[in-house]
Formats: sequence, structure tokens, C-alpha cells
Amino acid sequence: MIVRNLQLVRDRITTACVAAARDPASVRLLAVSKTFNADAVIEAMSDGQRAFGENYIQEGVDKILAVRGWEADHPGLPLSRPSEWHCIGPIQSNKTRLVAEHFDWVQSVDRLKIAQRLSEQRPPHLPPLQVCLQVNIDGGATKSGVAPQDAQALAAEVARLPRLQLRGLMSIPEPAPDFVAACAVHKRAADLFDQINRAGVLPQAMDTLSMGMTADLEAAIHAGSTMVRVGTAIFGGR
Ligand SMILES: *Cc1c(COP(=O)(O)O)cnc(C)c1O
Repeated sequence: MIVRNLQLVRDRITTACVAAARDPASVRLLAVSKTFNADAVIEAMSDGQRAFGENYIQEGVDKILAVRGWEADHPGLPLSRPSEWHCIGPIQSNKTRLVAEHFDWVQSVDRLKIAQRLSEQRPPHLPPLQVCLQVNIDGGATKSGVAPQDAQALAAEVARLPRLQLRGLMSIPEPAPDFVAACAVHKRAADLFDQINRAGVLPQAMDTLSMGMTADLEAAIHAGSTMVRVGTAIFGGR
């Protein structure tokens, strides 16, 4: 089922890219495996899926250790490179060390204090932690994320931290009533991404715009997403 679902999601991504006159290779698929177990992840890996997203830190760390253990027992299988793990959920200060020690990416950084702790706690033997800033693009009151008007200053500060590499922005807008409305809100994130890149405040341009989920990945791709985060359409309902 997971393998079949993955194919359907890849087809949706390709169709959306063609409709938007974009190269399908310009959009990465992050499989959001929260609440599903390591066996589900390994099944997705058997079909070539490499990047996985987790919301809950302890659950994510347990799964990472299980999957990496499996990978160590099956060298070179099923992927030529090891699985890649993205933290996409809220991070409390007391959880930064777990994130810094186990994840490859963090997409939910929304304040400098968390970024500083992640940088300080990233183990020296690991590559820099790859970071996206979560932007509260539509001002959703209950959601975390840096306000759009503060994102550029935060990006400039995060880009200076030695053990982090700033890769881009991530957004989770409220569900939109239709395709046009969804495109409009994703376009705001894309415009902010371009604006920060053009401002000349970063040592290196950001290359990742993480937006779009099961319900709205077509609109996100239309607006310029380079990474869609898909859970339900791959693993099923939670
Ligand atoms: C759960 C989650 C997703 C995946 O959502 P689906 O609707 O299941 O595709 C993507 N991004 C974030 C931040 C999530 O928490």
C-alpha cells in the first residue's frame, strides 16, 4: 500500500510540475512518518524514499535509531545513501540536544535562542545541521513560526551560527477554501523567500522552500515549493 501510495504522490508532484512548467526534479518529497512505525519507513525506503519528517521529537529519535539500526544490518540496502531525517515539529529548549544529536535537518526553527542551542549542541563529528526557518505566513494565532516581517533578520543571524547551515523557509498555512486561495498564500511565502535571498544579508542563498502537504501540494508547487511534506497520502490517516 505504501509503495503504491508513494507512486501516486510522485505522479501528483510530476503532474503539478508539468502544469506549472517546472522541472519535476526541482521538488523533493519529504515523507512525513509521524505516528507510523519504523516498518512503514523501511517499506517506503524499499521504494527509494529517502527523506522522512517527524513532528514529535522523542518519537522521531526512537524511530531514527530503529531505522539506522536496520540500515547498519543491511549495508547498501535499500538506498545507496542513508535515510535523512527532518524535524518538522515545535521544539522546546529542553529538546534541542536530542534534535541536534539525531536529526539531519530542522525545519521548525522560529527563534534565535533555539537556533543557538542547536548550533552549540550539534556534535562535532556530524555535518552542520540543515535548517529552515518556520514562517507564520498567514498569521495563524495558534501556530508557531517567525512573523514574516522578522524573518529576514532571523535568517541573517541563523546563517552566522557555526554548526548550522541555513537552507530555507518552511510554512504551514491554514487550509484554504480552493486552489486559487491556496496558491495566493503559498505565493506570499515564495515572495518572502525571494526577497530575503535578494536582500544580500546571507553568505549563501537559501535553496529550500518547504511548503505543501497532502491537501495542497499542487498549489504549493504552483507557487514555487521545492519540498512538499506529505504524510496522509503516503502512510494513510492518523
Ligand atoms: C503532519 C504534517 C505534515 C503532513 O501532513 P499531511 O496532511 O498528512 O500530508 C506536513 N507538515 C507538517 C509540519 C506536519 O505536521
